[in-house]
Amino acid sequence: MSADMVIVRKEGLYCVPGQFYIDPWRPVERAVITHAHGDHARGGHQHYLTAAPGVNVMKSRLGPINITGLAYGEQVVHNGVTVSLHPAGHVLGSAQVRMEYRGEVWVASGDYKVEADRTCTPFEPVRCDTFITESTFGLPIYRWQPEQQIFDDVNEWWAANAAQGRASVLLGYSFGKAQRLLSGLDPANGPIICHGAVQTLNQVYRDEGVWLPSTVMVADVPKSEISRSIVLAPPSAAGSPWIKRFGDYSDAFASGWMQLRGARRRRGVDRGFVLSDHADWPGLLEAISATGAQRVIVTHGSIAVLVRWLQAQGLQASGFDTEYGDDEAEDASAPALPAVEGAEHA
Ligand SMILES: [Zn+2]
Ligand SMILES: [Zn+2]
Repeated sequence: MSADMVIVRKEGLYCVPGQFYIDPWRPVERAVITHAHGDHARGGHQHYLTAAPGVNVMKSRLGPINITGLAYGEQVVHNGVTVSLHPAGHVLGSAQVRMEYRGEVWVASGDYKVEADRTCTPFEPVRCDTFITESTFGLPIYRWQPEQQIFDDVNEWWAANAAQGRASVLLGYSFGKAQRLLSGLDPANGPIICHGAVQTLNQVYRDEGVWLPSTVMVADVPKSEISRSIVLAPPSAAGSPWIKRFGDYSDAFASGWMQLRGARRRRGVDRGFVLSDHADWPGLLEAISATGAQRVIVTHGSIAVLVRWLQAQGLQASGFDTEYGDDEAEDASAPALPAVEGAEHA
């Protein structure tokens, strides 16, 4: 057997023959980035390569960087390794990294989701010998409902609050989660107000051709309209003066963690909507099996559980020790949850 194509170094995942890193956590010369969430896309690298639809997201989050965009499926050769990027269905511009060297294929998937949504290119399985996977929701209890069901619940909650004269405050990660929620909102219910952090990303999505309903900043909404409105804000805005201006509002949090009993109460919000941008347990198994890989390496989340399950299926499975975090929690609640190994805040 030949030597491993990808290993962990102190800087991050390293493609040995290609001499580049994938989502490194320390500054390096060449970084291939799977997506622009903070724990995967860090500042300080000399050169970035990412999927073309993600270039402007990267720039809006990291400022001026030296970056090249690669169309999905397009191939480049680095030191004899053929590199291509394939849709991961996680957020705008998210990609799996396919590496081929001397007839052997490895795929590093970053974060991914198998259910298609309207805000990014759907996940595509890529055949490989070795598949590097996340396992954020790698426990059999995690099974998502179709997203339309969640959107219906959100719209119903919003309409009920509006009928009672209360604004609806919906908390979720400002990049990805917020735009996905927006794509499912029914503008007939009232104005859609976005926090500045969300609105900045909305613009990047629209510039990339993703349709989102019209959104406004709070200053643009007459006071009389506030009670009919829905407010999209990052979790870090909870309890802030910015949020308090909405008065007697109802609040909710959208995350895969909301499936856990007690998670909503720990968050201190009125409602929890189970909406995740990661694969659920059946989704992880389906994605792994579709690659045809005989060897699987798990990077973050419930590593031990998934590794054991895959080994029981006769696959060669192991974990990588990485510094990736949890983009579904962002700023609270995750450390209190069981079986979330290595969770940290993005
Ligand atoms: Zn992510
Ligand atoms: Zn991740």
